[in-house]
Amino acid sequence: MPLILDSSSESSVEHDKDTLRERRQEHHTADVVIVGGGILGSALAKALGDQGRSVILLEKSLKEPDRIVGELLQPGGVQALEQLGLRDCLEGIDAIRVKGYAVEFYGDLVHIPYPANALRQPNYNAKTEDPPLKAEGCSFHHGRFVQKLRAAALAHPNVTVFETEATNPITADISSQVLGVQAMTRKTERDYFFADLTIICDGYASKFRKQYSPHTPRVRSKFWGMELIDCPLPIPEHGFVSLADRPPVLLYQIGTHETRVLVDIPENVSTATSAAGGVKNHLRNVVCPTLPPDVRPSFLSALDKGHLRSMPNSFLPPATQRTPGLALLGDALNMRHPLTGGGMTVAFSDVVTLTQLLHPSKIPNLADTKAALRAFRHFHWQRKHVTSVINILAQALYSLFAADQTSLKWLQKGCFRYFQLGGNCIDGPAGLLAGIIQRPIVLVYHFFAVALLSIWCMYCENGLLMLPYSYFMGWVVFVQACIVIGPYLLAEMRS
Ligand SMILES: Cc1cc2nc3c(=O)[nH]c(=O)nc-3n(C[C@H](O)[C@H](O)[C@H](O)COP(=O)(O)OP(=O)(O)OC[C@H]3O[C@@H](n4cnc5c(N)ncnc54)[C@H](O)[C@@H]3O)c2cc1C
Repeated sequence: MPLILDSSSESSVEHDKDTLRERRQEHHTADVVIVGGGILGSALAKALGDQGRSVILLEKSLKEPDRIVGELLQPGGVQALEQLGLRDCLEGIDAIRVKGYAVEFYGDLVHIPYPANALRQPNYNAKTEDPPLKAEGCSFHHGRFVQKLRAAALAHPNVTVFETEATNPITADISSQVLGVQAMTRKTERDYFFADLTIICDGYASKFRKQYSPHTPRVRSKFWGMELIDCPLPIPEHGFVSLADRPPVLLYQIGTHETRVLVDIPENVSTATSAAGGVKNHLRNVVCPTLPPDVRPSFLSALDKGHLRSMPNSFLPPATQRTPGLALLGDALNMRHPLTGGGMTVAFSDVVTLTQLLHPSKIPNLADTKAALRAFRHFHWQRKHVTSVINILAQALYSLFAADQTSLKWLQKGCFRYFQLGGNCIDGPAGLLAGIIQRPIVLVYHFFAVALLSIWCMYCENGLLMLPYSYFMGWVVFVQACIVIGPYLLAEMRS
């Protein structure tokens, strides 16, 4: 329940103001309160602190997280991190350079390097244009990276970090304006944090989202993760995607000796039910035999050790912020399937965009809620250059890579054949995936080029005798392509 400062009459408004003034004196106040010191919250705290704002950052546990998420940062995310002055957070954590991907399709391998001539986009800071960055990503242990980001926030003189769990918003009844949050420290001590702006970035299971977002996350599958030791990948310093007659499997190195494997298992897979022997059985008997022979020994050895963890793969479209004094960000606001490793790139580029819009030269006082809401309206549309490409690509690619119908399987095959053509058929999709091509129209172009190639492949493979069937099936594939991408395009167009 939110703490409501009731103000049903004028005298009670005055009373509220007094209560508020007393609470603010008794408790903690700042320009901004940030809930969640993970990927986005820590970077945002530092960025707002750099602008001279006073920031309170609330994190429920400052211990190093041990999670299977947020381990591969795309080149676009590295660029954004650089703009935020946080690039050195990638140092000293045994991070691995990522130069692109290798995709295996029923035993055939295609190399998808990040485009060599990747240029910075116009919305990037002109000061950092020279010299241009190489399009390289980075992979690492999530917890080590988060601790570096938190250390940057902790070291900032304008940022105060509290280890406490935010429980409820504090609202003023008269305007539903959010004034801050209540929190519980060490499970017993209640505390109050007040600010002109409260930013919620408490992650995928956000407890504040229900109240402030019109959308609920949709989950189609889970990623089951293990850490493989000394696992040789088909191309070093490249992420690896394995496609076969099952949903996709993703591997990337996260340390000198450690490689993350993420196996996608949709909710209704019969071979993973407990009656069929459970997930372990599915991994051993269905997934392992389809992996490259070099990967299998370390996969089985990790399976025997049994440290298997899972995370839901969610889709959550973004929505415009409409509550005075509050904003949702990060996974609390917007999620996409993690197949393309885009979440952190979205998070850091959102921090870049938002801090530009909230800059003190534009909004000197964040208590000006009208100006802040206007900035958030602009933010909703401005962020789309980067985020809509990443969101749509992740969802559309997942539909193709987890193909479970004939028409989707043709699209999957067409996608692989498209990569095999090389040139712009690799540079375009790789640039979109990397977060360095930030034009949704480029994504739509490549997607429908894949659809047309899929139909062409089907005509060629079916031959003359099956021409009538191919003609019919060609339309089915085309309609399927529209069904795959259409809803996500529409979701991005909504305010
Ligand atoms: C399986 C999987 C793999 C992924 N892999 C990648 C990848 O390789 N690359 C990539 O870019 N993205 C990846 N993502 C997405 C990425 O992890 C997220 O987009 C990113 O972590 C979002 O950052 P965030 O700050 O919103 O949330 P988080 O990083 O989850 O941070 C939320 C923080 O809030 C804290 N918190 C929660 N509730 C409270 C509370 N009430 N009070 C105080 N603190 C609170 C938590 O302790 C946490 O520290 C993956 C996602 C999944 C599911």
